[in-house]
Amino acid sequence: MITMALSKGRIFEETLPLLAAAGIEVTDDPEKTRKLILATNQPGIQVVLVRATDVPTYVQHGGADLGVAGKDVLLEHGGEGLYQPLDLKIARCRMSVATREDFDYVGAVKQGSRIRVATKYTAIARQHFADKGVHVDLIKLYGSMELAPLTGLADAIVDLVSTGKTLLANRLREVEPFMDISSRLVVNQAALKLKRDRLRPLIDAIGSAVAKD
Ligand code: ATP
Ligand code: MG
Repeated sequence: MITMALSKGRIFEETLPLLAAAGIEVTDDPEKTRKLILATNQPGIQVVLVRATDVPTYVQHGGADLGVAGKDVLLEHGGEGLYQPLDLKIARCRMSVATREDFDYVGAVKQGSRIRVATKYTAIARQHFADKGVHVDLIKLYGSMELAPLTGLADAIVDLVSTGKTLLANRLREVEPFMDISSRLVVNQAALKLKRDRLRPLIDAIGSAVAKD
């Protein structure tokens, strides 16, 4: 059996056409079933539904042979034990710094002030500000990051942005987009050796369906 880990929502939806190109159809709809293991039209391939942040963990430890995870999630995880053969160019967005409209981010950076930054993405944020030589106090959050600058918890947030509508609705300003994000195929390194005959053609078929731009 080959097991693929996917998260519900945009990753599942955007992975479906790539699987279809490899001749794989998922026969259950995750929005309609409570099952966490979904069958496909191929008896030897199943899909398991896990939290987006758990995909690398499942694949790393062999709970799944392969999976799809955002670059954000992979950088936070560290990517240990994972072979990353393909950028699938799905679930595209960017990682950005955002602040309240009245916060002078450029001025604070210029003056070398310590900036309080709230984020779910502490590894990515730490690296970004270290690269810029900006001193930050990082505050780890698990959600609703937009609230942090509005309540005075932080001066800035580091978060994913796609349309910018959520920032706008909360009167926040995107002051520094700094990383393009998309999702990648990740494969367990041991599985790739042991099940190479089945995984390699699958990876190649998915790869040939990836958008060319
Ligand atoms: P949940 O929203 O259920 O708490 P999550 O945020 O971890 O979970 P998704 O929102 O499905 O899961 O995001 C999965 C991946 O899709 C992220 O890791 C990121 O790479 C990408 N992503 C997140 N937000 C967006 C967005 N607004 N537009 C495009 N891609 C996004
Ligand atoms: Mg989300």
